[in-house]
Order: sequence, then structure tokens, then C-alpha cells
Amino acid sequence: MYKTHNNGELRAQNINTEVTLSGWVQKIRDKGFMIWVDLRDRYGITQLIFDEERTPKEMMDKASTLGREFVIQVTGNVIERESKNPNIPTGDVEILVSKLTVLNSSLTPPFTIEDKTDGGDDLRMKYRYLDIRRKPVRNNLVFRHKVTMAVRNFLSEKDFIEVETPYLIKSTPEGARDFVVPSRMNEGQFYALPQSPQTFKQLLMIGGMDKYFQIVKCFRDEDLRADRQPEFTQIDCEMAFVEQEDILNTFEGLTRHLLKKINNVEIGDFPRMTYDEAMRRYGNDKPDIRFGMEFGELNAVAQHKDFNVFNSAELVAGIAVPGGNSYSRKEIDKLIDWVKRPQVGALGMVYVRCNEDGSYKSSVDKFYDQDDLAKWAEATGAKAGDLICVLSGEIHKTRTQLSALRMEMAERLELRKADEFAPLWVIDFPLLEWDEETNRYHAMHHPFTSPKPGQMELLKTNPGAVKANAYDLVLNGNEIGGGSIRIHDKETQSKMFDYLGFTPEEAKAQFGFLMDAFQYGAPPHGGIAFGLDRLVAILGGQETIRDFIAFPKNNAGRDVMIDAPAAIDKEQLKELNLQLTTKLQQ
Ligand code: ASP
Repeated sequence: MYKTHNNGELRAQNINTEVTLSGWVQKIRDKGFMIWVDLRDRYGITQLIFDEERTPKEMMDKASTLGREFVIQVTGNVIERESKNPNIPTGDVEILVSKLTVLNSSLTPPFTIEDKTDGGDDLRMKYRYLDIRRKPVRNNLVFRHKVTMAVRNFLSEKDFIEVETPYLIKSTPEGARDFVVPSRMNEGQFYALPQSPQTFKQLLMIGGMDKYFQIVKCFRDEDLRADRQPEFTQIDCEMAFVEQEDILNTFEGLTRHLLKKINNVEIGDFPRMTYDEAMRRYGNDKPDIRFGMEFGELNAVAQHKDFNVFNSAELVAGIAVPGGNSYSRKEIDKLIDWVKRPQVGALGMVYVRCNEDGSYKSSVDKFYDQDDLAKWAEATGAKAGDLICVLSGEIHKTRTQLSALRMEMAERLELRKADEFAPLWVIDFPLLEWDEETNRYHAMHHPFTSPKPGQMELLKTNPGAVKANAYDLVLNGNEIGGGSIRIHDKETQSKMFDYLGFTPEEAKAQFGFLMDAFQYGAPPHGGIAFGLDRLVAILGGQETIRDFIAFPKNNAGRDVMIDAPAAIDKEQLKELNLQLTTKLQQ
């Protein structure tokens, strides 16, 4: 038996018992006549002691050869520590070792395996198995496990069943590129890895499964933005015989349960906001509503004066930054530079200082008097001491820019508190989204999403105005889930494909199986998928999802530990009937 106890377990009441422990050597203090070793495992740390007076000489010698991260097994007596350590649960006791076995030696680790390590990101990723020995990483993985267990239990209790769907499939259009896998047995043909199990979960509804979920890997070959992973995990769900209201209630219930169970936070009914309202008030379809700084639209009060920048703008909008009047001229200039950075892209920023005496001082005093500026203050909700920041231009761009400024100011003012949770539903998304690159409309969610009742006709006359039965669950400024009520009849689905620019042949080749299935009694259905990695990170009060993934990929989509992706040998290529250009051949 390798151990009678784990290393986080022994307390004062265990004194005078003989125990056996196994684990890794975290730290050694060798005074010659006395050697202390911190022994670590997943559960904690127990101090071992070897001393000249009570430990046989050969064991003393053996102990002095131990190094960091050696794997050892010890047997010994639990004794009271002379100087107790109140910082760890086992700090009252230590083990006077009577038997020491070295189970494995270790090279000196490339970084310290402590809560705060000297290892940089790249090094820690290369030796991720050592990184996982560190408490913060280990705790994150345990935390993730707790969240997934809570999800599984909740859904299972509500009669959902977890069904596995295949990974080797045909392309599903979720808006990204597919990862493809060549088929050896079917020359010249490829599988695609699922961007989501979307079509399969719909087929499960047609199969009568009624309530499905799956904690499942999804694969999307996108240009990697910061903190995106090419493979990520979804809590994927689908229900039959439901309307949007049923889905919102069910998954609001799941989210409320998680917040209670994991974070001990009670949340009442989640607010609901239409997409249009979210864009108008926050310039963003995933607004962080933990703080104010809502947009004030200023067209009515700022246009038709002599300021042409505003007169020619589609939208003039501002936010009131709390306490911003205290900024120096230099600080405001810096803020103007910030909004002009290419990442934000504003052409400039107009500002109004709201003085303590109720007067205003703006960067456009030439054009606007105190009465005008008072109206701006009213529209943005500015109070004495605030700074009104105003952007203008084309509607969508201006909103996006002002939203970026709002989030930046919230960050600077520390209004985005990790332990405060503000979920909401954003509903009534547009069905279609204009794509500048291809010059046509695309499905905003995916092509299986149903339009709002009675809006199919609008597709012909005003496609941009068609709203969908689609919804997102937003938490603290992040989209943590999104879904829709689906189309479930063949005719509507083919009309939709047609509208999205698929020829009937293409639609049949790619989705014939689904449209065929619709003809055999497809029930009304809908669902949602949560991004598990992000959800776990937010519940864990952190921003980066990589910290909650055991073996994440880096920003270039590489696994630096196993060094993937990698070339494959010629034989393998030949078997797959693949040829690489000579440049790539090794
Ligand atoms: N398949 C969708 C997605 O991955 C979610 C859904 O519509 O249920 O975003």
C-alpha cells in the first residue's frame, strides 16, 4: 500500500499513529543534523522530519540525497510540531520518518512548483504536467470538474440525457472554417470535425430524445484571437416541444443553480433585453450591466447647430464617466488618443466637463452654450464631477467605439468586479447579418434558426429587419450561451438555404439528410449551447479560459508540449493519398 493518508489529511488528533504517505518533494531544508521535507500531493502538504538523534544514519544519508520533485514513500510516526504553521491545515503535525523509499527521482524542474512561480507562460506550457502540480492550476481543474458535475446533475435531474454525437462528420456551418480529417478508406474524401453537434442534436429531437445535452468538444479553425482555443468545450442542449420561453426558463434555472451552488450568489429573474435595445443602450450585444455609463443619444440636442462633424453624423452618442471631471487636460488628451487607436478607430472625441458648481466646460464651447450642454448631461445622466465623452459617425461603428470606451473606463474605474454577477438574456436577434466581404447576408446564428412567426415574408422586402427566435445568455459582458428555436419543416428550411445563397443541389448535398428527416415527423424544437471554458473562468472570477483548460493551445494554435501540429511521414501521406507541395515536404 502506497499510502494510508493523503498529504492534506493529518491533524493533531492523529498524533502517535503510524502512517504511510507518498508524494512529491516540494521543499527540503537540510541543516545537517536535521532535515525537513515538505511532501506534496493533490490534497496538500505534510512536513517530514529526519533528525540525527532519532533517525538511523543511513536513512539520514538517504534523505540528504533527495531533490525537488522526487517521488517518495515514507512511513513514520505522527508527532507534534515544535513550531506550528497556522497557514496550512496540517501545520500542527509532522512525520518522524522511520522508512524512506525513493519511488522515482526527478530532474530539477525548469521552474519552481509553488503558487507563485518563476516560470514564464511558454515554459509552463511546455512542461504543463509540472504546472498542473501547482496549486492554482490544480484548483482551477478541480473547480472546472465541480462546475461540470453541477451541470450534469442539474440537467440529469430535469430528465435531460447525455448523448454522444460523432466527431468525424461532415461540415456544419457555424460561421468558421472546419478542421478536416482525410479518410484513408475513401480516397479523396474528408471528414470535418464538428464546429458543434448542431445537426445531430436536431436529429436526436426527430429521434424522440426530447431533452438532450452533451458536454462536448467543438472545433473551429478560426484566426485565433486572444483567448480563443481551436478546440473548446460546449454544454450543448436541445429540447423538443418547446417555445423560446421554455428554453429561457430552463437554462436560466441552470445558470441560477450554478451561481448558487458554485458561487453562493442568489439571483432573481434574469433581465431580458432585445438586441436592438442592447445596441442602443450599450452599443454591444453582450452588455456588462454591472455598472451604468449607459449611452445617451444626442442627435436631437447636438445636431443643427454649426458643428458640422455632428451635423453630418448618423449618430451622436455619449457616456458620462463618473468622476471624470477630475482628469487633467493631459489625461483627457490621452483618452482621445486611446479612442483614435486603430483598434478602436474613432476619428476624435468631444468632451464636456461637468463642474461641481453646475456649469459645463466643453471642447466645443464655440458651438454649444450652457443650456445645450445641460441637455447633453440630461441625456447621458451626467452629474456634477463627471466627464461626458461623445463620439459620432456611422451608427454601428460609433456604437462599437463608444462601447469599447465604456468598457475601458469601467476597467480603469474598477467597476468590473469578479465577485459580482449580472446575467441577462439578449433576445430578438436579427436573423441575418450583412457580410461586407462577400457582399451578402449570412445567418447571424446559423441557418437552422427560425425567423419570428410571420416574418418569413419580410425576407423578400427588408431582410435586415427580420428578427429571429434567437437568444444569448450574457454574463458580466460575456456571451456564455446562445441558441435558437429551429426551423422544423422542410419547406421553410429549403427557403432559408435558398435565401442564404445555396443552390438546391448544394443544400441537398450538404443538408439533404436533415431536410429528409424533417419529412418524418420532426417535432418543434430548439436549444442552446454554453461555452463551458468561458463559463468556468467567469464563475472562477478570472478572465482567461486557458487557465481552466488542462492542456490548452497557445495563441498560434499550437500545443507546445507535444509539439502539434506536426508534419507526418511520407508513408502516412501516401496511405492517405495526399501529396504536399515540395516546399513543405521534409
Ligand atoms: N450550435 C449553436 C452554437 O454552437 C448553439 C445552438 O444553436 O444551440 O453556437
